[in-house]
Amino acid sequence: MDIEKPEEVKSESVSFVEEILKNDLAEGKNGGKVQTRFPPEPNGYLHIGHAKAIAIDFGLAKKYGGVCNLRLDDTNPQKEDIEYVNAIKRDIEWLGFKWGNILYASDYFQKLWDLAVELIKQGKAYVDEQTSEQIAAQKGTPTQPGTESPYRNRPVEESLRLFNEMNSGNMEPGKMVLRAKIDMANPNMHFRDPIMYRVLNMPHWRTGNKWNAYPMYDYTHGQCDYWEGVTHSLCTLEFVSHRPLYDLFVDWAKQVGGDDKPLDDNRPRQIEFNKLNLTHILLSKRNLLILVKEGVVNGWDDPRMPTISGFRRRGYSPESILNFIDKIGYTKFDALNQMSLFESAVRDDLNKRAKRVSAVLDPVKLVLTNIAEGAVEEYDAINNPENPEDGTHKVKFTRELWIERDDFMEDAPKKFFRLGPGKEVRLKNSYIIRCPEENFCKKDADGNVVEIYAEVIPETKTGEANSDMKIKGKTIHWVSCDNCLEAEVRNYDRLWMVENPRDEVAAYSKEQGKDRIDIDDMRKFINPNSLEVKKAYVEECLADAKPLDYLQFQRIGYYNVDMDSTPDHLVFNRTVGLKDTWAKVNK
Ligand code: ATP
Ligand code: MG
Repeated sequence: MDIEKPEEVKSESVSFVEEILKNDLAEGKNGGKVQTRFPPEPNGYLHIGHAKAIAIDFGLAKKYGGVCNLRLDDTNPQKEDIEYVNAIKRDIEWLGFKWGNILYASDYFQKLWDLAVELIKQGKAYVDEQTSEQIAAQKGTPTQPGTESPYRNRPVEESLRLFNEMNSGNMEPGKMVLRAKIDMANPNMHFRDPIMYRVLNMPHWRTGNKWNAYPMYDYTHGQCDYWEGVTHSLCTLEFVSHRPLYDLFVDWAKQVGGDDKPLDDNRPRQIEFNKLNLTHILLSKRNLLILVKEGVVNGWDDPRMPTISGFRRRGYSPESILNFIDKIGYTKFDALNQMSLFESAVRDDLNKRAKRVSAVLDPVKLVLTNIAEGAVEEYDAINNPENPEDGTHKVKFTRELWIERDDFMEDAPKKFFRLGPGKEVRLKNSYIIRCPEENFCKKDADGNVVEIYAEVIPETKTGEANSDMKIKGKTIHWVSCDNCLEAEVRNYDRLWMVENPRDEVAAYSKEQGKDRIDIDDMRKFINPNSLEVKKAYVEECLADAKPLDYLQFQRIGYYNVDMDSTPDHLVFNRTVGLKDTWAKVNK
């Protein structure tokens, strides 16, 4: 395999993680090899935070000619499911990355077990029969040493026998655990005899009934990295304090496993970077699962969810997600990034790729009195002015059109540059029209305008004699009443009313005396108007639009075709408005 040498790598922005990796390569560590892994627990769908981990895990492996494996961290059968594994694979592929191998922590259950047995034999682990409360009470504090368990120095044979019993299926969960014997006085709390195994007595979706005792994350992750040949194990900052334990378990795996590679050059190196955290969204699969289960949203891929599948369904492109992640970068400090920055990255991207079409979301009829009934004109509408090679599509123009209700005002103030008595506007791709001073509209019994009247000004289309006629009015969009389609439009707003739901919901929940947030706490902060459904009229060319077709409804916003959409019932999701209106409304 060709390994690109660090000095040949051209990069605009090199993160501190990449610097470390480049130095390791320069020093000839790992035989010049780069191998990473992306290790999600299959207990939910991936969210936008995971995209940040994916981008660096897969991105660096690719850039330096290495491999990134997908390693499903399936050590907790209580919460895991094959549905999640499939969703994780789909999302990684959609983001444009390819894994080397798909591996599972459960592939290593036997090896981890054998290692644990050896560690017991060497006096490095013991079975503790205390309750989790007792163990917690003995932990001490960072400044005060903990207390040793009365079972700490029990005979090896006893621990071996009990360890086997832990896995027998007859042991009650919580009755005993296997702990590493390290140092109950260590200032690093993770060294105070951490738990290696607990009893769950549950079948695992991959290993069936073989195991009843399951390894803990800290006892699993480093060894899996080491056995697999991972060179750089990237994770988030909360694992900084776990790193010494990660290294220790790798040392033990090496000593007991008898691998003769020198560890100094081949040790998987854990490097931590800051989590992605965005305003107005709540991450963490545990919390997202609550929203799904309680029906606050319609599934993990609801377009209001901060999941990768939710953003996809909403109309965010993979490029816009990756561009945003590149922009915010990787640091060693916690940050809270503005959702508006993400939205502007999406707008920049969709501006380049979205097909411009017309949709009228709050329709009122416009009758052009000097166009004959039944007459049809056809125009070529430009698909994307940013991208001439995207071509054109046909639009039909007739006597009766749908326009937006708020593009007309009966008592229009001077500065209203749309339709009103005596006012002129240009119809997109078509004529300039003029509304008469009198008889300009028809109203129903309640006084609502049901029809607006105007005349086209001849020869004002592009390229015609009067096309450069100067008017004060704007250009407005329209669709032909006889040549349009009805559609359902779903306009989404933010799901959370506060800037930092992670902290604010947690603080509220704490005030209520709870130690974990629940749905009642969440409901206090959830925007009750996060979804508005509208009946709209759209251009005929959208008849065969498919999910993931990126669209711009001109003058309104970016839209995408929803998965629920069928030719008989078109459904569009609003991806993002054309401008950041949230800031104005909510300040
Ligand atoms: P959650 O707390 O949301 O359930 P997690 O950390 O438990 O997330 P995992 O499935 O264990 O999720 O994580 C897989 C990888 O993604 C880990 O390396 C983890 O550090 C990383 N990751 C998770 N959340 C974020 C985030 N917000 N920003 C960056 N990386 C993240
Ligand atoms: Mg987790």
